[in-house]
Amino acid sequence: MRKPVIAGNWKMYKTRGEAVAFIEELKPRIANVEHCDVIVAPPFTALAEAAQTAKGSKVGIAAQDVHWDAEGAHTGDVSPGMLLDAGCSHVIIGHSERRHDHGETDEQVNRKLKAALAAGLTPIVCVGETLEEREGGQTQKVLERQFLGGFAGLTPPEFSRIMMAYEPVWAIGTGRTATPELAAESHAFLRNLARRQFGDEQANAVRILYGGSVKPQNVAGLMAQEEIDGALVGGASLSVESFLAIINYPSA
Ligand code: PEP
Repeated sequence: MRKPVIAGNWKMYKTRGEAVAFIEELKPRIANVEHCDVIVAPPFTALAEAAQTAKGSKVGIAAQDVHWDAEGAHTGDVSPGMLLDAGCSHVIIGHSERRHDHGETDEQVNRKLKAALAAGLTPIVCVGETLEEREGGQTQKVLERQFLGGFAGLTPPEFSRIMMAYEPVWAIGTGRTATPELAAESHAFLRNLARRQFGDEQANAVRILYGGSVKPQNVAGLMAQEEIDGALVGGASLSVESFLAIINYPSA
C-alpha cells in the first residue's frame, strides 16, 4: 500500500510570519491525521522558520528548488546542504514554472535530483505536458523524455527514495483540472516507465502525486483513482481551511 501524500506548493507567496502562522494553525488540526503524509513548500526566505515551527509535528517541509553544487558562485541559488541546514526534508525539483520561467532542462533536473538524493533530501520530481503537446498527441512522448532524462543514471535504491508529481501544465493555476481518468492514465504510463527502468518493486512503491488545480471539491474524485497517490496543491494550499479540506479528502 502506498501512503498518500498531500503537499502544498506555496510558490512565491507568504512572508516568514505568514508561514509560521499557517503552520501553527495547521499543526494541531492534523495531529490525528494518519491516512496521509502532509508537506508544505514555503519560499526560501521562510524555510528555516517554517521548519522550526513544524518540528515534532506531522508537517514536512519542502524547498521549491535546489542547486546541484554544494557551494559556489551561483547567485540566487541554494544548495542541498543549505536546505538541510534550514530544516527541509523534501525538495520539489523540475516544477513546470522552473522549466518555463528559468529554462530548466531535463539534464539539470537530473543533476539536482542526484545532488538532493546524495544530501539525504526526498525529491518530489515534477513532469507534465503543455496544452500544445497534449493537443498534438505528444503527452506520452513528453513524459517519457522527462522521465528518462530526469531519472537518468539512478539506481533502483535511489529511485525508491523519490516521489513524482504528474502536473499537466495546462491544469496548473488555470482552474482546469485533469479528469481523474485522464490523470490516472498518465500516472499509469509513468508507473510503467518506472517498471521498465527500475523494476516491479520500485514501480509498485513509487508515490505519484497529481498536481493541477486540485481543490477541496475535486480531490476525492482524484484520490479515488488507484493510480493517484496524492496531490501537489498550489493555490488551494494557501489557506489553512482549503488545505485542510484537501487533507481530509476521505471525509469529503
Ligand atoms: C502547483 O503549483 O504545483 C500547482 C499544481 O498549482 P495549482 O494547484 O494552483 O494549479
